[in-house]
Amino acid sequence: MATEVTPKVALAGFRRILGADAVLTDRDAIAPCLTDHRKLYEGTALAVLRPGSVDEVSQLLAFCNGTRIGVVPQGGNTGYCGGATPDGSGRQVVLSLARLARLRSIDATNHSMIAEAGCILANLQREAEAVDRYFPLSLGSEGSCQVGGNLSTNAGGLNVLRYGMARDLALGLEVVLADGRVLSSLGGLRKDNTGYDLKSLFIGAEGTLGVITAACLKLFPRPRAVATAFVAVRSVAAAVDLLNLLREASGDRLSSFELIPHVAIELTTRHIPGVAQPLAGEYPWCVLCELGSARAADPLDSMLENALRDAMDGGLLDDAALAQNERQRAAFWRLRESIPEAQRHEGASLKHDIALPIASLARFVDEASAWIASNLPEAMLVAYGHVGDGNLHFNVNARAGTDPLRLVARADEVQRVVHDLVASLGGSISAEHGIGRLKVPELERYAPPAKLDLMRAIKHALDPNGIMNPGKVLRSA
Ligand SMILES: Cc1cc2nc3c(=O)[nH]c(=O)nc-3n(C[C@H](O)[C@H](O)[C@H](O)COP(=O)(O)OP(=O)(O)OC[C@H]3O[C@@H](n4cnc5c(N)ncnc54)[C@H](O)[C@@H]3O)c2cc1C
Repeated sequence: MATEVTPKVALAGFRRILGADAVLTDRDAIAPCLTDHRKLYEGTALAVLRPGSVDEVSQLLAFCNGTRIGVVPQGGNTGYCGGATPDGSGRQVVLSLARLARLRSIDATNHSMIAEAGCILANLQREAEAVDRYFPLSLGSEGSCQVGGNLSTNAGGLNVLRYGMARDLALGLEVVLADGRVLSSLGGLRKDNTGYDLKSLFIGAEGTLGVITAACLKLFPRPRAVATAFVAVRSVAAAVDLLNLLREASGDRLSSFELIPHVAIELTTRHIPGVAQPLAGEYPWCVLCELGSARAADPLDSMLENALRDAMDGGLLDDAALAQNERQRAAFWRLRESIPEAQRHEGASLKHDIALPIASLARFVDEASAWIASNLPEAMLVAYGHVGDGNLHFNVNARAGTDPLRLVARADEVQRVVHDLVASLGGSISAEHGIGRLKVPELERYAPPAKLDLMRAIKHALDPNGIMNPGKVLRSA
């Protein structure tokens, strides 16, 4: 039987379950949890709740389900779509997973580990390394994002080409359902065809179907040989040809292939201390590519060098620098990972996280860039990303010293042009950042009606009272 309760009664209920210390209401203390990383949204909340066990999460959800209190799960709060920010109603709570941060077990033989949702991604990478294994999920935010957030957004990042998205790295999950029941599949099995694959429903669901409390994650042999190069390609089409050439020439040892435009090099070297030009000349497009192998004896440097020489002979590239040591490799990656920060220093930006069939990438970049150049000549296009996965961050940045509001005023128009073109080429309007609150109308516009109907039916089946992250991904009923 549902009973709506006053804030006072709700807070008393939370304190009964968690103890007073784990129910935060002080305005200053909870302020960082009420806004998103990009500062697009700001909300209010009855409280920020910090459970310390799965049982506490279960009791909280049962309580919120019975009292119709909206629950907004929050991991590292680094998401780009406002998914972890509560609305302004004051009838929601933020459920922080930060205290559920234990590595429950690690099994080098099974190549797996069981980590609680609040584990910071970079810590899990180190835990894997400590048993001579490799956890390949890697993103610019890895020092603060949590694995529960990674799974809930189905994060991608730098190694998708070889190892897949977060979904591909999950063997099983432990999830607390909206009514408080716990669903667990942490057995570490690689084969389990006993009916529907329920764990997949919660991956990429952005907290709208339940709370992920732990995951069994795949580990891999550690790369013992790595070769990295920064390459000036002739065009985006040449980058795509180089991608295919490197995959073949390396026997599919290519783990990363990142497109970087000249403007991103200019921004990072200007705004981020210690970032240096990797190549002597200036080129419109560059690629940062990396081969990796678990066999220390694999001659990756010569493999990469020979492949790049062939590519140069074939007219695909103008220059290339191979990292000669770990310091140089880290410098190349630092440039790549600093692009979002450098953009922020320059000014406001209109971001589009899109995916395209690889064969259509060059056409998309040509047509969309031409539109930006003739319609927003005062703005700066920063199109970069995980091109090996067909994923571009097609961002339009205000130049330093210009009025950012003039650019922001054109956001809807630019988004329509970019997303219409993406849709016409068979692409996706959200490659890896999700829908959150930001792209709900865009999902409604571009998703096939049958898909939306099924998504709403699944939401209703798992969360009939609509308490799980209301208004994210799908509009509240
Ligand atoms: C510098 C930078 C670089 C980035 N690079 C990439 C990149 O390369 N690839 C990429 O994919 N993303 C990238 N991101 C975006 C972001 O880091 C990822 O989306 C990340 O996976 C979010 O994790 P989080 O713990 O911060 O989640 P949050 O931001 O806290 O939450 C994200 C969503 O997941 C839900 N959620 C969080 N935890 C849980 C849980 N335990 N159970 C249920 N729901 C939950 C939230 O309600 C919200 O809807 C980047 C962000 C930054 C700031």
